[in-house]
Amino acid sequence: MGFQDNIRRVVPYVPGEQPTGKVIKLNTNENPYPPSPLVNKALEDYDISELRKYPDVNGGELWEGLAEVYGIDKEQIFVGVGSDDVLATAFLTFFNSDKPVLFPDITYSFYDVWAELYRIPYEVLPLDEDLRINREDYIRPNGGIVIPNPNAPTGVEKSVEDLEYIISNNRDSIVIIDEAYVDFGARSVLPLIDRYDNLLVVQTFSKSRSMAGARIGIAFGSKELIKYLNDVKFSINSYTINRLTAAVGAAALKDKAYFEETVRKVIATREQAKADLKELGFVFPDSKSNFIFAKHERVPSGEIFKALKGRGIYVRWWDKPRIREYLRISIGTDEEMSALMAALKEIINTI
Ligand code: PMP
Repeated sequence: MGFQDNIRRVVPYVPGEQPTGKVIKLNTNENPYPPSPLVNKALEDYDISELRKYPDVNGGELWEGLAEVYGIDKEQIFVGVGSDDVLATAFLTFFNSDKPVLFPDITYSFYDVWAELYRIPYEVLPLDEDLRINREDYIRPNGGIVIPNPNAPTGVEKSVEDLEYIISNNRDSIVIIDEAYVDFGARSVLPLIDRYDNLLVVQTFSKSRSMAGARIGIAFGSKELIKYLNDVKFSINSYTINRLTAAVGAAALKDKAYFEETVRKVIATREQAKADLKELGFVFPDSKSNFIFAKHERVPSGEIFKALKGRGIYVRWWDKPRIREYLRISIGTDEEMSALMAALKEIINTI
């Protein structure tokens, strides 16, 4: 009894640890390289007196830069405080049915948290034994669909053809494709937004543009969908993108060469990591992201996780059904990955 009865209680999402000090941090899929030098310059050149004023509600120069770089109408672009903010707003805006929202059982662990928070009914659809999404599972009555591509934490890519099959067979629902990791070698469904007005594509600056700390997420979709997203956003907080973030985001966008080079390096390191992990006796589905979801043929992941942590190497491990067998290892620099492989070798030989 009392005010406790009126409290909205939620079980929150648990982010990966952010340890301080000298550690090797391969637990939150951050990019090991710094943002473009143009970001540095934008900060140095920034006229601080501008902060006196409220920012542009749409993201100002960042929003305009996105339209230019992606060749998409500004009215088809929504900018948020990281893709978590964009996805949370999209859940609240588009998932408002009595029918369940559909997503995979092994996926980004924020989806069920938002569904619970907003009291959206949902149904999780099991991945197959190879951790793949079966497109036929998504052809059933639903109140919306959300699928990451590549999926997280598996890293597995779903083909554009399969995703188009799901989108085109669900014209009465909004389908959100969460492309947080798409730049690391997967194909984007972005070209489909003009053909399917029920498609919302979500991307982020946190991974491929090395700017998780700046908090920039984007949604692309039809003008109608973007208008509805803005209506909900403006009903909570209109000024989500601050002026400094807009400036550094716009600067990062201008450096295409740096972006491509950084992504190329992460992909090259990932491919080497796949070969090294295989040699150490790990198995994993093929990853098109900046992480690998791996399990060892003999040694339990929980033990490896603890032993790595003891050596100052952080990876992610969830003590949850279906995924506790695996470790999710973010791709670091070549040096960090070499240190990881050396530690893994030692751990595996002593357990
Ligand atoms: N989607 C997926 C699949 C993710 O793994 C993450 C990162 N935790 C996000 C969205 C959110 O990233 P951000 O808010 O940094 O853009």
